[in-house]
This record gives sequence, C-alpha cells and structure tokens, in this order.
Amino acid sequence: MIKHPNKGIREAITYAISKGWKQVETGKSSHAFCRLKCSKLHSEHQMSVWSTPKSAHQHALQIRRKVAQCLLEEASI
Ligand SMILES: [Zn+2]
Repeated sequence: MIKHPNKGIREAITYAISKGWKQVETGKSSHAFCRLKCSKLHSEHQMSVWSTPKSAHQHALQIRRKVAQCLLEEASI
C-alpha cells in the first residue's frame, strides 16, 4: 500500500486501520488518495482521503473523528 505524503494524515490512516478500518485504493481518475471504510461497512462511516487537502491537520482530525463516530456507535448498541 502506498503511503500518504503527509505525516499527520498517515498517522490518522494508521489509527483507522488499527481500529479495523480498511484502506481502499481509488482509481487513477480520482483525486482522492484512498478511501477508508469501517469494518462494519456502515455506509456513513467511509470517507475519501485527499492527497493534498487544504489543511492536512484538519483532514487528519476529520479522519480520526470519523473513526471515533463508529466506535461510539458500536459502544452504544
Ligand atoms: Zn462504522
């Protein structure tokens, strides 16, 4: 799997994967670096990871927040 050039985003991806998320490569036509999907395949828990987001820091936070959402939902069942 190719690595994201931004360290913060790379760490967020690693975090997602450590929680069971899947990293899915996108086609060459896509501007996204990859997609992330939760292990439970909830349709609302997936997001595109951009190669060059406006704010890498914000984008990394977005990824972590999304993963946390899934964990919270699981805990509330
Ligand atoms: Zn989920």
